[in-house]
Amino acid sequence: MKMSYDIAIVGAGIAGSALACSLAMTADAMDKPLRIALIEAQAISDSYPCCEEGINDFDARVSALTAGSQQFLESIGVWSDMARQRVSRFDKMIVWDAEGTGHIEFDATDIRASELGHIVENRVTVAALHQRIKILSGVDVFSERSVAGIDLLATDARPNKSCLTLDDGRILEAQLIVAADGANSPLRTMAEMQVREWSYQQSALVCVVETSQCHEHTAWQRFTAHGPLAFLPLSLSQSDKNYCSIVWSQTDKENALSMAMDDDDFSRALGRAFEHRLGEIKGVSKRFSFPLQQRHAVDYVRPNFALVADAAHAIHPLAGQGINLGLADVKAFSEVILAGHQRGQSLGHIGLLKRYQRQRKADNLAMMAAIEGLKRLFEPLPLPLRWARNVGMNIFHAQSQLKNKVIRHAMGIDS
Ligand SMILES: Cc1cc2nc3c(=O)[nH]c(=O)nc-3n(C[C@H](O)[C@H](O)[C@H](O)COP(=O)(O)OP(=O)(O)OC[C@H]3O[C@@H](n4cnc5c(N)ncnc54)[C@H](O)[C@@H]3O)c2cc1C
Repeated sequence: MKMSYDIAIVGAGIAGSALACSLAMTADAMDKPLRIALIEAQAISDSYPCCEEGINDFDARVSALTAGSQQFLESIGVWSDMARQRVSRFDKMIVWDAEGTGHIEFDATDIRASELGHIVENRVTVAALHQRIKILSGVDVFSERSVAGIDLLATDARPNKSCLTLDDGRILEAQLIVAADGANSPLRTMAEMQVREWSYQQSALVCVVETSQCHEHTAWQRFTAHGPLAFLPLSLSQSDKNYCSIVWSQTDKENALSMAMDDDDFSRALGRAFEHRLGEIKGVSKRFSFPLQQRHAVDYVRPNFALVADAAHAIHPLAGQGINLGLADVKAFSEVILAGHQRGQSLGHIGLLKRYQRQRKADNLAMMAAIEGLKRLFEPLPLPLRWARNVGMNIFHAQSQLKNKVIRHAMGIDS
């Protein structure tokens, strides 16, 4: 027997879970509830990561969430729970060129903001979203179930319905299937959506480190010819230890060497690469490595089907914008779908879905181009161009109006 839904969302990471929350909450408030299926291949946890102070108690996967993302998470009722659990504000950002004197600083006080953003462990965000989903009506969660196949062909008898088969053989029928299943999106492949992609020939090593000096609520990033190294501040309310989450983008070969080092050798290499800006590296957690690829779907939608967040676009983590773009997709997608639902339109109608694509594609492309430009700027350059880059960075640093405009845009509070 088929189970019938209005919307089936595949992938319960930050994007898919936020979408389920946003749609269910607003549809309920409109008194026009939606039946939503949320399908996730892995076990879903709605418990927060441990709040002890051991270095391995943090989730190594963190995101720098902008004010724009925070506002959206507030609007769907999860930010206050996240903040009660563990979020780490940063008030300053310091970026510098490893090969010269170029440096840029951004400060929240320059734009009269209380902070530039928050570093949040991904598990904290996902747990808060799932605690919220539990108390909302209309969302059925299929945990530890993956999708074996989809059938997007509506029939004459059921013009608005598509089908999705789970790996246990159950069949779900929905007006609209949404792929929020990440950068490798199996659903995108099943739906035969084309994608433009290229490898950055880099991998990102992530872990948590303890430093001898305080991070000063600052996000630090050193650009080297082989890739950027970021130290992102993590705060514990009742601890005198100094923790940072690091994202070290390196060539695949260097990444393999860094992953193979023992903790002492790795700490020394990391300290050197970071110019010991926060003193000695006193401890490191388990390390994880992520191959980096740029991907962008040619279309985000087709009848009865849509891609959101990393399933539609994946970018280099150097500007910490991946899930911020993803949450902006989720917000725009919810607004478009809920407006259609209010008018009684078919939710899988291509005209409705294209409105979402129009709203998001240009923004996502602009950010991808900016990040690509930034990455190339720091690739190995002849001496005169390196000199020009350093001069350019210092001139930009001195241009407070331009700098403030750029940072407000990156924070998602200015267009
Ligand atoms: C090293 C690194 C650092 C980053 N730092 C930042 C940062 O500071 N700020 C920022 O904004 N972004 C950052 N990002 C990007 C950010 O992590 C991603 O944009 C974000 O995790 C994407 O979320 P998502 O929900 O779209 O996909 P995912 O988190 O990949 O979730 C997809 C989910 O779908 C599930 N799934 C997959 N296939 C199936 C299937 N067939 N059936 C059912 N379920 C399925 C998966 O199990 C997974 O849970 C970083 C990325 C990396 C690699």
